[in-house]
Amino acid sequence: MAFEGLTHKLQETFKKLRGKGKLTEKDVKEAMREVKLALLEADVNYKVVKDFINSVSQRAVGQEVMESLTPGQHVIKIVNEELIMLMGGRESKINISPKPPTVIMLVGLQGAGKTTMAAKLALHLKKSNKSILLVAADVYRPAAIKQLQILGGQIDVPVFTLGDRANPVDIAKAGVENAKKNAKDVVIIDTAGRLHIDQELMEELQNIKSEVEPFETLLVVDAMTGQDAVNVAQSFNEKLDITGVILTKLDGDTRGGAAISVKAVTGKPIKFAGVGEKLSDLEIFYPDRMASRILGMGDILSLIEKAQQTIDEKKALEMQQKLEKHEFTLEDFLDQMSQMKKMGPLKDLIKMIPGLDTSKLDDIDLNENEKEMARIEAIIKSMTKEERKNPSIINSSRKKRIAKGSGTTIQDVNKLLSNFEQARKMMKQFADMQKHMKKGKFKF
Ligand code: GDP
Repeated sequence: MAFEGLTHKLQETFKKLRGKGKLTEKDVKEAMREVKLALLEADVNYKVVKDFINSVSQRAVGQEVMESLTPGQHVIKIVNEELIMLMGGRESKINISPKPPTVIMLVGLQGAGKTTMAAKLALHLKKSNKSILLVAADVYRPAAIKQLQILGGQIDVPVFTLGDRANPVDIAKAGVENAKKNAKDVVIIDTAGRLHIDQELMEELQNIKSEVEPFETLLVVDAMTGQDAVNVAQSFNEKLDITGVILTKLDGDTRGGAAISVKAVTGKPIKFAGVGEKLSDLEIFYPDRMASRILGMGDILSLIEKAQQTIDEKKALEMQQKLEKHEFTLEDFLDQMSQMKKMGPLKDLIKMIPGLDTSKLDDIDLNENEKEMARIEAIIKSMTKEERKNPSIINSSRKKRIAKGSGTTIQDVNKLLSNFEQARKMMKQFADMQKHMKKGKFKF
């Protein structure tokens, strides 16, 4: 999982700061030294680290922090804000030309994930009702054309090709013409890469670019290559004046260097992140959410978004109203558990929860947790409808029956009932928090 090492180190540093009632300049200096080392170890560009530490230090020894009642929190807040700024401040969307078709040219080295990304982007844009044409202009990598055709077939997007004998500039040009003829909204051109940057590659890409005048020239780089990715980005930007960067393989064992440095070094925003091999494994790059993830504050917004995508909207609304009115029953609890199951493995979800030290996650036996969930499910299913609605009627003879029916013990039933009461209280708080977040009142 990305950023684990960095997150762990930063959390250790912050833990020390948090524990202090008052901060001295020396405390801040020491913390900044640790943050600096953590960033360097995560393969963040040296100059970027230096500037970052300078900005944070300047703000952190300011009066506002020193006089604050929670100076440790204040320093973390500053690191968070500066990290967001470093990664571009706000998300940067794909620009759509007012004069269709919008031509998007994907460039990058071989193996960076360009062909996969072409199809991921097509799927992403298709969701906003854009009609798309994919153009296979990678004539060098064996099977690149076939790969794009297969991916296009999976998402029902046509792929334009002239085979691997044609000149890439001609393919790109003919592809755009074809898109115009068929009134497509967007053309995505998958260009050829090389193993390393070379003159020939750059000239070819420059020729394609001047021929088709793309609205977006997006560089695809492999986040796992750390500083190399940043150097590649710098070279491509100098030669091709790219409009944005897409980081792939952010799901891998990434130290974080590329995500943190690319914008600062090239001045060009990261627009998307590839987070897996499946075509739906694409995320819009939100600097603020990424900063939260790096700092180990979780990614509550992505979590909520994921929940919203999976959970039946109407049901979620009903649930929220029930929570607010304190009408949440064991039946609803059961219902919610089955919705949660649809959201995927518990381990992935837990990582998004803010404030959780994910370095400890491996010590927790998540299988045990899932077994516990199955036990809870069995207990609730052994209750009558009336009991689920109104658990207070569950006396000891009912408990005995429920335990027997679910293959558990009376203690298990007791535990569930008391946990449920606790959960009901917590969920009410969560519902209130969500309400505040919607109104923009929830602050770090
Ligand atoms: P290209 O040479 O740049 O066109 O690269 P490909 O699209 O063929 O991708 C190279 C390899 O990386 C393939 O095995 C892809 O499945 C894999 N890949 C691409 N994007 C991602 C990603 O975001 N995460 C992971 N884990 N693998 C990826």
